[in-house]
Amino acid sequence: MNEIRIYPDPILRKKALPVKMIDGQVKEIAEHMAEAMYTNKGIGLAAPQIGILSQIAVVDLGEGLRILINPEIIEGEGESVLEEGCLSLPNIEVPVKRKDKVFLRGWNMDGKEMNLELVGFPGRVYQHEIDHLNGILIVHYLSRLKRELLVKKMLKRLRDS
Ligand SMILES: [Zn+2]
Repeated sequence: MNEIRIYPDPILRKKALPVKMIDGQVKEIAEHMAEAMYTNKGIGLAAPQIGILSQIAVVDLGEGLRILINPEIIEGEGESVLEEGCLSLPNIEVPVKRKDKVFLRGWNMDGKEMNLELVGFPGRVYQHEIDHLNGILIVHYLSRLKRELLVKKMLKRLRDS
């Protein structure tokens, strides 16, 4: 269950479903996700990356673990491009255009509504995780040709390592 799904695993392209009730099962999933994220030295992880199609994201930017349920971007401002990596796409980096500032809404594990205003890198991380919940990966910001070349290289490196 802790195994990180690697592209092109089809589950990574599916949309995650909203969590209806924050119960013991959701808590268990979030714990598994946090464990998988820390084991793989990631800073964020979305549930589809461990094969679960629920709208749950975990992020730790060095300020402790944050779990977000049903997160969504309400508004965004500005744009910039930065290279990003992803635990589901080992050893590759892709330039991704994202909003500089986002207003995000979600729920925490206690069922409390969270409204976050995020600027710069932290906002980028949350946008990346919310993309996962919508079945979007960083390689989908590339042209099909570039994506195929890059993924071929990634899979070869994985086989050779
Ligand atoms: Zn990712």
